[in-house]
Amino acid sequence: MMVNLAPHPVGGYALGTRVERLARAMINMIVPPTCLGCDLAVGQVGALCGSCWSSLRFIEHPYCAVLGTPFAYDPGFGSVSLRAIAEPPDFDRSRSVVLYDEVARKIIRSLKFGDRPELAPWMARWMLRAGGDVLHPGALIVPVPLHRNRLLQRRYNQSAELARNLARITQQAFRPDLLQRIRPTRQQVGLGANQRARNVRGAFRVPTSVQIHVKSSHIVLIDDVYTTGATLQACARALRRKGAAKIDCLTFARVANGVAITDL
Ligand SMILES: [Zn+2]
Repeated sequence: MMVNLAPHPVGGYALGTRVERLARAMINMIVPPTCLGCDLAVGQVGALCGSCWSSLRFIEHPYCAVLGTPFAYDPGFGSVSLRAIAEPPDFDRSRSVVLYDEVARKIIRSLKFGDRPELAPWMARWMLRAGGDVLHPGALIVPVPLHRNRLLQRRYNQSAELARNLARITQQAFRPDLLQRIRPTRQQVGLGANQRARNVRGAFRVPTSVQIHVKSSHIVLIDDVYTTGATLQACARALRRKGAAKIDCLTFARVANGVAITDL
């Protein structure tokens, strides 16, 4: 069994342009597609085999209105978790598509390290579905930036690929220029929550030339994974200092309870 994960069109956005279909056909000719989560052959890029599909845990209601973390029971629409009350984040709301498990990890690692930027359009469509309540018209879509040294190593920023595709689908403004990573940070791999927060503190800034665009804006920050939230919070603080009115986060996957995972 094969499952095509591209969700149905949401909100009337035109999905699947001719250029995209052509690109997909060309990719299929050059590299026979395999399941995003394992090596089984599948019919098209962006598909999962039945077993990987059934293991993905999509985040659905009920979840915390602020952090987007799933609730075990339904406390009522708009309810906020104790964690969000005890430690209010620097952003307004966060949403993610799936919980970070083995299959989600493989999908993200394929995008990030496997040199497979063609996965980004599919992932962005899932993010559109999960982020429907934060992607308001007029929002500015801003990826979490890489430091330029790391960008040279990786050749592309996976978060920017997700953001660019999301902006294209929703016809909103893609603004990677609004945020810069001004110092290289250690990889967050293997760091605990406090170390992660220290590692990215003061690492981001809004360039002076674009501050006017940030003031009073609604920003949707895009990243591949929400782990402890340290990176997204550091980005949100930099944007808030320059007067952003509303800052929401949208990621593909989310670690369930904020516990750092060593291979991220
Ligand atoms: Zn599979």
